[in-house]
Amino acid sequence: MSAELPTAQSRYPNTVSGWFYALRFGAMHLLCFAAIWTGVPLEAVILAVVLWAVRMFGVTAGYHRYFSHRTYKMGRVMQFLMAFLSQTSMQRGVLWWAAHHRHHHKYSDQPEDVHSVRQDGFFWSHIGWVVSPRWAETDMSRVRDLAKYPELRFLERFQHLPGLVLAGLCFALFGWAGLIVGFVWSTVFLWHTTFTINSLAHVIGKRRYETDDDSRNNWFLALLTFGEGWHNNHHHYQASTRQGFYWWEIDLTYYILWAMSKVGLVSDLREPPRHVVEDRPHPAKALRAAARRARRDFDERVEELKGRARLAREEASQRVEDLGQELALRIDEMSNDVEERLENLRGDLQDVRRGAHEKLEALASDATVKVDELSREMAVKMATLRTHAEEANDRAARAIDEIAEATEIRLQTGTSISQA
Ligand SMILES: [Zn+2]
Ligand SMILES: [Zn+2]
Repeated sequence: MSAELPTAQSRYPNTVSGWFYALRFGAMHLLCFAAIWTGVPLEAVILAVVLWAVRMFGVTAGYHRYFSHRTYKMGRVMQFLMAFLSQTSMQRGVLWWAAHHRHHHKYSDQPEDVHSVRQDGFFWSHIGWVVSPRWAETDMSRVRDLAKYPELRFLERFQHLPGLVLAGLCFALFGWAGLIVGFVWSTVFLWHTTFTINSLAHVIGKRRYETDDDSRNNWFLALLTFGEGWHNNHHHYQASTRQGFYWWEIDLTYYILWAMSKVGLVSDLREPPRHVVEDRPHPAKALRAAARRARRDFDERVEELKGRARLAREEASQRVEDLGQELALRIDEMSNDVEERLENLRGDLQDVRRGAHEKLEALASDATVKVDELSREMAVKMATLRTHAEEANDRAARAIDEIAEATEIRLQTGTSISQA
């Protein structure tokens, strides 16, 4: 079995997975309505009030002032009993509770904080973080001082055991009403009263000390949670067992622990030093605190500016996208227009071409007619000329014949004369 217990080195994955825890948390709220069938008998109501009060003491004296802050001492048996009592409230194991609470003090109201109203809102700081799987596991490096006790690791491994034992007792004593009203009602009420310290005590109340967080002193919450409502005091000085720093700041948990110390059940209760109560911090410390505050304000401002820049960037890119779409639309319109015009021009061009073709054809046929006429005239003239030439030819031939005849006559005459 010891192999299954968490070790002091690991991040201990909770045996109850985050979502199952959330489901169980919701189921407990629904179970409250089962009182419709069980009824609400007086003894069950008294049991609920007693169990709420005893376990509220277990939460604040156990989980918080002992296991998370080690503000007083007790023996090993008492330590086990205190852890057992704390865990009957079903807020997981003391190692888980202390590890996350120490984390809260280290990063109070900074982005890393487990539960911060300023960072993540009221709902998250009240319930969200408790049921979220995100914080289900335990960083054992934060609780090495507790993890060295095997009995505490055993309770961590079987975190529901104390609660189930108590639930069984309630059922055995008072039946179904004892279970539903006595156990379930008081457990759910105990959860929400505990959680007000993580939520409301960082929102409503007075800030006596200039701590780096939003913690407040709230007398109503202090009464409701047995002294935890002096939350600004506590953030100012966590090492003190007493959280009500003045006599009028009622702190029931402290009174009970004081009485227990008188009978030797616990010891070494720590008081806040006087200079802490009167808030006269060492100058260097005050300076450091001021520097831290300035740094935090600066970081917040930077974050805010970053956020604004991101917004502006998103807006600009949206605008660019819009413009791009508009441009594309216009280009589409224009290209449609241009195409239409081109189509018209093409039509016009075709008309012109057709006209020119027709004119050319008309000209060509005109020319053919004229050439025909000319060649006909030429033929007539040529025929006339030929006739003239033939007549001239005939006349010439006749003249030649006459000349030849005349010549022959003369020759014949000459010959006869000479013979004579
Ligand atoms: Zn604390
Ligand atoms: Zn706090």
